[in-house]
Amino acid sequence: MSAADEIRIPLIPQKIYGVLGHPVAHSLSPALHNWAFAELGIPAAYLAFDKSPEELVEFLTAVRSLPLSGLSVTIPHKVAVMPALDGISGLARRVGAVNTLYWDGDRLLGENTDIAGFLEPLRDLGRTPGSALVLGAGGAARAVLAGLLDLGVPRVSLSNRTPEKAAVLAAEFGVELVPWEHRQDAAAELVVNTTPLGMAGERQELSPWADICMSPSQTAYDLVYNPQKTKFLADAEGMGCRTIDGLTMFVAQARAQFRLWTGRDFPALPARRLLRQLL
Ligand code: NAP
Repeated sequence: MSAADEIRIPLIPQKIYGVLGHPVAHSLSPALHNWAFAELGIPAAYLAFDKSPEELVEFLTAVRSLPLSGLSVTIPHKVAVMPALDGISGLARRVGAVNTLYWDGDRLLGENTDIAGFLEPLRDLGRTPGSALVLGAGGAARAVLAGLLDLGVPRVSLSNRTPEKAAVLAAEFGVELVPWEHRQDAAAELVVNTTPLGMAGERQELSPWADICMSPSQTAYDLVYNPQKTKFLADAEGMGCRTIDGLTMFVAQARAQFRLWTGRDFPALPARRLLRQLL
């Protein structure tokens, strides 16, 4: 048999991971984690598990008997999975949501890597911002607030379209409240968008920071990752501000999951290139 006839022996997956959500067809996680397994020569596979809230309890029971080594958890299950776990990290408890399941022996544990993912690009700045303003008061805002407080940002404030939701969250995390109409008056060094404004589709031309007026000393951080350069970031860049995009956070939170599961790191730059291609 010539070398050309030789059949490449496939890497047989020995471990199975996946993302649990509803719906999950749009998720970028299977492409990213499967690419990372191949890149590092790890014999594992990552699947998508689309389970409705009605199917959740049955699925989580099955997780304990199936050869599932870890799961990403996404909308709408990030809170609902918590009672079914054997332990939850302190940070995930503070956020009130879990986005990663992993095993410690026979204990199924929950972590929230959105916080680590959010913080990674800020840590790369090498300097803790003196103040930060968070726009939005949904699930992502909770991880962002926990992260900013964990990082030791001295002045954190929150602004949201629905003031009642902002008030509840601001009280829970002990941060300052800024009325939505006055968000642009709050001279924060770091402005973080956690609203879906700017997302591909109907909201793409929108920004949470209308009539842009930022100073070059400010940093704009957008959690929206599709498109990578949102209107908010493009406007801020035009004003000479530093910007951080949501794709950087998305890859960083996935790397934190991968590290928990495998003890290894996949390279961030090609991962971002892969996701840009997919988007
Ligand atoms: P969520 O729980 O639904 O919260 C959305 C927040 O945005 C709410 O506070 C809502 O305000 C506000 N909002 C929605 N539409 C608005 C509008 N037209 N004008 C002003 N405010 C508006 O969503 P989430 O889970 O926090 O996710 C938010 C965004 O973060 C999504 O785009 C998601 O893709 C992104 N995200 C990215 C990453 C990443 O890794 N890059 C991770 C997590 C989330 P009200 O309270 O007034 O409704």
